[in-house]
Amino acid sequence: MHHFTADTDRLARAIVEYAIQRVRMDPPTLDGPVPLAELEERVGQTITRDGLGGLEALRVFVDELAPATISVDHPRFLSFIPAAPSEAAILFDLVVGASSMYGGSWLEGAGAVYAENQALAWLAGRAGLPDGAGGTFVQGGTAGNLSALAVARDVALRRRGGERPRRWVVLASEEAHPSVESAAGVMDVEVMPVRTDERHRMTGSSVSAAAEEVGSGDEVFAVVATGGTTNLGVVDDLESVARTCARNGWWMHVDGAYGLAALAADSARPLFAGIESADSFIVDPHKWLFAPFDCCALVYRRPELARRALAQHAAYLEPIHATGEWNPSDYAIHLTRRARGLPFWFALATHGTDAFAAAVGQSLDLARSAAGEIRGRPSLELLLEPTLSVVVFRRHGWVEEDYARWSRDLLERQVAFVLPSRLRGEVVGRMAFVNPRTTIEDVRLILDSME
Ligand SMILES: *Cc1c(COP(=O)(O)O)cnc(C)c1O
Repeated sequence: MHHFTADTDRLARAIVEYAIQRVRMDPPTLDGPVPLAELEERVGQTITRDGLGGLEALRVFVDELAPATISVDHPRFLSFIPAAPSEAAILFDLVVGASSMYGGSWLEGAGAVYAENQALAWLAGRAGLPDGAGGTFVQGGTAGNLSALAVARDVALRRRGGERPRRWVVLASEEAHPSVESAAGVMDVEVMPVRTDERHRMTGSSVSAAAEEVGSGDEVFAVVATGGTTNLGVVDDLESVARTCARNGWWMHVDGAYGLAALAADSARPLFAGIESADSFIVDPHKWLFAPFDCCALVYRRPELARRALAQHAAYLEPIHATGEWNPSDYAIHLTRRARGLPFWFALATHGTDAFAAAVGQSLDLARSAAGEIRGRPSLELLLEPTLSVVVFRRHGWVEEDYARWSRDLLERQVAFVLPSRLRGEVVGRMAFVNPRTTIEDVRLILDSME
């Protein structure tokens, strides 16, 4: 198992050949889920005492498992938030996997950490955070939000001299991502929902209004603003939220898992005015910054506060702290970590930041073109001018079941994967663009299927 034999060599070539073929597919096959009973019948038991052998295990994957798995990078995958990893990032992910790098500490992973930190510094710089800002890459936005909120509470607790309030409260928009509620649940804190305005945005005054409903003896320790809501792509009014946070001494966290990628584009930067005041933010390179799963950048204005709250200490770990260098494990709820920021770093280093600005800009432009296309069709109605790259619309005369049937049919015919969503309770059409390979012709094809 641990020697590079002639068999290993054959397997290596087969695996690398398959990986290259998959990366080269343009477009990849869309594929889709297969019922469990069917997989059981077709694939059966793969774990045996003697093993299948690498080539046979690879065949099972290529012939049976991969086709039962949707290609998230298909140009007509427009559900949820898609992904569109670049060739460079995907290929470098193979290198990360091959290199047995421990990404938790400088002692073990200095080179990897150095590179990852440059990628984080680029993001922090785009946001306008001061020098000294930093953090780490974690698995996803959910883990990033939880870590940031845990730090925020630790800061508030210390400020109170360690005395706990009756209840801790975090303020977040009613359109915030459910991971905020989930993080609060894990931390056993309350989320006080903040009403959004007619443009679906949380503002400083709505934050203040929500805070007034917090009971006496309860303490607000953080506000979570969203830099691009997942459902609508709406950016909260970060500037007024920042002022409200500053006035009240609340930690300002910006959940930009999807939308903060648009910081890369100068044209979109004004949408995020106020982000430079954030105490922490997250953005998922695995969404709109063209990295493979799974990768979330978590950045703190004052990383030392995170280290104080989250660093793990034990006799056997003291050597990593003794270096006095940057240990990514100190900045989130994790210890061992894959150097999962490296594929993102590699693509940034390879192509340069202008290429990222252009690629993000393509989806911003496409969302506008798609909105125009929808406006021009009498059977459709645009429900919201796109702020970022999500478009929501109504098909006149359709009810929930019509959208569901249409969506199922598109996937069955392998045309597209476009799930409906909801806007104020109504089922609506929704398309989210992050893939520079998606064209307006793709959009037309999908809209034609609704006529
Ligand atoms: C996707 C998303 C999350 C969750 O991120 P994961 O990487 O899926 O854990 C959180 N917040 C927002 C705004 C998102 O779009």
